[in-house]
Amino acid sequence: MSVRARFAPSNTGYLHMGNTRTALFNFLFARNQKGTFILRVEDTDQQRSEDRYTEAIIDALQWLNMEPDEGPIFQTDRFDTYGEKIDQLLEEGKAYKCFCTPEELEAQRQEAQEAGRKPKYSGEWRDRTDHPDDQPFVVRIKMPLEGTITVKDLVQGEVTVNVEELDDFIIRRSDGTPTYNFVVVVDDVDMDISHVIRGSDHLNNTFRQIPVYRALGQQPPTFAHLPLIDGLSKRKGSASVQDYRDLGFLPEAVVNYLSRLGWSHGDQELFSMDELTSLFGFDSVGRSPSTFDEDKFRWVNSEWMKRLELSDLAERWVPFLKDRGFDVEVDDNLIAITDLMRERADTLVALTDESTYFFSDDFEYNEKAVKKWLSPDLKPAVEALADRLQSLEEWNSDAIGTLYRELGKEFDLGLAKLAQPTRIGLTGSTSSPSVFDLVATFSRDEVVVRLQKVIDELLTE
Ligand code: GLU
Repeated sequence: MSVRARFAPSNTGYLHMGNTRTALFNFLFARNQKGTFILRVEDTDQQRSEDRYTEAIIDALQWLNMEPDEGPIFQTDRFDTYGEKIDQLLEEGKAYKCFCTPEELEAQRQEAQEAGRKPKYSGEWRDRTDHPDDQPFVVRIKMPLEGTITVKDLVQGEVTVNVEELDDFIIRRSDGTPTYNFVVVVDDVDMDISHVIRGSDHLNNTFRQIPVYRALGQQPPTFAHLPLIDGLSKRKGSASVQDYRDLGFLPEAVVNYLSRLGWSHGDQELFSMDELTSLFGFDSVGRSPSTFDEDKFRWVNSEWMKRLELSDLAERWVPFLKDRGFDVEVDDNLIAITDLMRERADTLVALTDESTYFFSDDFEYNEKAVKKWLSPDLKPAVEALADRLQSLEEWNSDAIGTLYRELGKEFDLGLAKLAQPTRIGLTGSTSSPSVFDLVATFSRDEVVVRLQKVIDELLTE
């Protein structure tokens, strides 16, 4: 039987990281098994569902390179089907109308509480036939009265509950709308889902859903309930895929990092999507919760920034630079800057922060650095430096290095005495990559202009 896995988010918010991990494991499993990955949008919450969230989810999956093979399928398009199935169960005596009023239910709840029992619907209307004509009712499904329900879960192993834990839950509300635990099953049956892969917070729902499959005359699918992720709920602002994209994370890194929240392959930390799809399996998904660790995520991202082709990384960087008002495009110079700077940043935003001086000379000189490294006695040497850089035959870091060393000897100055003023002039401070590489990455004219500014403003008494 071919694998059909689905990702079933509700469209009541952006795609957050926990849900993205669920989507990813569905996607990886489907790809690994040469199966089908399907997107279903659970949009039955009329108050909170919004089209913009549906679009954001689709957009995020596309950005992550996890596009569904089928869907999106919307639950709101399927109300007639749900209605037919509920009517069918009513006719077959597998579901029944319950006329309990909210007051009666509350009284039952209190009674249970006082007797120290878990609140549970009493089954009052399960066998009654004296239905009133004109009163609102809900439809409840008949749960088995005795025995146990066992889930053979690919991650959690065999988990069993006693049916006493479960009551005849509502499948149609008094306003006629069907409920979550019912529609999920109808959908999974109609979509021919072979594997239900979702967070372990859904395990309790699974025990309710299995009897629904049986009532519908269907075999339940195989389940895989993924371990919880700690540390996500505390993060408020930046927990959605789009937030991380805006912070300058790469989709490769998001996929790579999320894959390791629950799944492992020896000690390996870095995986491409191709590797993940060929290696992924539930044998290597653990049961214990994993922790979302933003530092580690940043490390994975920094590794991906080093792994990408330079021109590819530069291309992805451009929108961030444009956002800061720098009118750049991918050319040899931007590629050279990318090459020089990518090791110094763990996100595209950090790369932008670290690199602004390449695109603008509108920066303040760092006072401490100026005080420490610049004094008027250096003026002749820096003037000579600017002069000779202007006429240097070849413009590359080797030739520039040779020039600095020669000048150092001539003026009897250690290399730092020339290098630090250069750094200050080009970047505003003394923290930068190797000075020869730095100089070589600027145009000759820009270097001379910036050195001249140092001479005029900082070395002239
Ligand atoms: N809509 C549910 C959620 O977002 C998922 C349901 C399921 O996977 O069965 O948690």
